[in-house]
Amino acid sequence: MKKCSKEKKQKAQRLAQVHHKDLYKPHFCEICKFPKQVVGHHENYDKPLEVRWICHSCHKLTHNLEKTVEEMKPIIRGDY
Ligand SMILES: [Zn+2]
Ligand SMILES: [Zn+2]
Repeated sequence: MKKCSKEKKQKAQRLAQVHHKDLYKPHFCEICKFPKQVVGHHENYDKPLEVRWICHSCHKLTHNLEKTVEEMKPIIRGDY
């Protein structure tokens, strides 16, 4: 039993590490603000740490229209 709880503790610590990384990941899209599953989008691959979190549909549009996240916001939120 003792062995078992030690394993559990280690597992929890591992999970906490993963969760810690996930703290930076919001649960809503930066562009449409809907609570959706988001993907990390790099606007500039020279800045790999700058990640924008946007949903799949906004992500697709951002690439199709070749716009930045800031440029996409009024397009998505306006009369669309
Ligand atoms: Zn979106
Ligand atoms: Zn992208």
